[in-house]
Amino acid sequence: MSDYVKGLMAEVKAKHPAEPEFHQAVEEVAESLTLVLERHPEYKTAKILERILEPERVIIFRVPWVDDQGDVQINIGYRIEMNSAIGPYKGGLRFHPSVNLGILKFLAFEQVFKNSLTTLPMGGGKGGSDFDPKGKSDLKIMRFCQAFMAELFRHIGPNTDVPAGDIGVGGREIGYLFGQYKKLRNEFTGVLTGKGLNWGGSLIRPEATGYGAVYFASEMLGTRNETLEGKTCLVSGSGNVAQYTVEKILQLGGKVVTLSDSNGYIYDEEGIDEKKLQFVMELKNIRRGRIKEYTEKYKNAVYTQLDPNKDHNPLWNHKAQCAFPSATQNEINGKDAQNLLKNGVYVVSEGANMPTTLDGVKLFIDNKILYGPGKAANAGGVAVSGLEMSQNSMRYPWTREEVDNRLHIIMKSIHKTCVDIADRFGTPGNYVNGANIGGFLKVADAMMDQGVV
Ligand code: NAP
Repeated sequence: MSDYVKGLMAEVKAKHPAEPEFHQAVEEVAESLTLVLERHPEYKTAKILERILEPERVIIFRVPWVDDQGDVQINIGYRIEMNSAIGPYKGGLRFHPSVNLGILKFLAFEQVFKNSLTTLPMGGGKGGSDFDPKGKSDLKIMRFCQAFMAELFRHIGPNTDVPAGDIGVGGREIGYLFGQYKKLRNEFTGVLTGKGLNWGGSLIRPEATGYGAVYFASEMLGTRNETLEGKTCLVSGSGNVAQYTVEKILQLGGKVVTLSDSNGYIYDEEGIDEKKLQFVMELKNIRRGRIKEYTEKYKNAVYTQLDPNKDHNPLWNHKAQCAFPSATQNEINGKDAQNLLKNGVYVVSEGANMPTTLDGVKLFIDNKILYGPGKAANAGGVAVSGLEMSQNSMRYPWTREEVDNRLHIIMKSIHKTCVDIADRFGTPGNYVNGANIGGFLKVADAMMDQGVV
């Protein structure tokens, strides 16, 4: 670690001591950026990185609501408006009991670089609540979403801040949030993305993050003249990103053998085919059940309960060539990374945000595998959100083929940026440096142009 990064990290930790995920995200980016700051001292003088680290604005608010029993409940709502140098704040909302300021700051920080990489004019933001939607009735979810928007609406807008979904926030929640925004503002605008198709949503938005992560893996494989055809893949999670990751892998001839949720994972040696995927989609999106039920339907599959006392996650300890972590942050630690390498995995494309710990990332890079960090590999979701914003502005929807085609072009362009920048800064094949530096340069130049604001 350079003296510059050491000094910067000491300052960040002293200022924001209780935010370990934020420290982790900053350290990874700062390591990459030392290469840029050596060549461009003007960024250092203007304290560009130090400014990017501090959100432009943090909004924290009370969300009071009444549950089905008539009891008053109180949650905390957040919106981190991180950086607007290249466009309105843009990034998802997460509803999960683990949500806190540090987690949302890490997500908002990563979002700044990711959005810049997409080539679209979007700044970075993130938000959410410690509300747990799991097992709640539709009515409770609606009441909560309305209470959340009753405060958030005054801070967002199609030219200011455009939230979307993330963990715990899918089409249902976006619907309730949009309905409440429209009622309070009395205007129909593209203030949220991930909307329903017949009220301003874009085709391919639900698929975009998963499809994009698989397109990114294909591009990485292409650098070795290989494809996904016949490759065995480990996928974690079973939500939005995981489901469409599996769908695209199957379309490209790969085989998927795992899926998970926060209770455990299933291993299906025969492979999860289209029919089994349909079962999972129905289980998760309609019945809102647990992944364990997969083994009640498909008897040859094996379910393993997650054991938090274990030093590794057995999901990552199966023979395969590719891994698509698509659940949550830090789901691959150093031991898991070792297990993946030992089992023959040489492609990791991150659908989730920061799913690999810093020691795991180091192992992937040292072993020169094709490692696509989340900032680049999962940018397809926000890219199609950007396309949804364009369609809303034009009031003209594009066809499925047109959006998918644009998504594919954007993922290829992100891949090319990563490869070219990694080469230019003397670290060929290092997608982490490629993504961090590629995302940074555009934002840094815009901040230089706009003065100290
Ligand atoms: P989702 O539909 O809510 O699904 C999340 C999945 O991950 C569920 O299967 C969930 O299991 C599992 N999970 C959540 N927290 C977990 C934990 N602490 N331990 C183990 N499993 C956990 O969310 P999603 O949209 O697919 O998001 C998944 C990841 O992709 C997140 O890191 C998100 O930030 C990232 N991402 C999403 C998008 C997007 O467009 N949606 C874009 C870019 C990146 P349970 O059901 O048991 O909670």
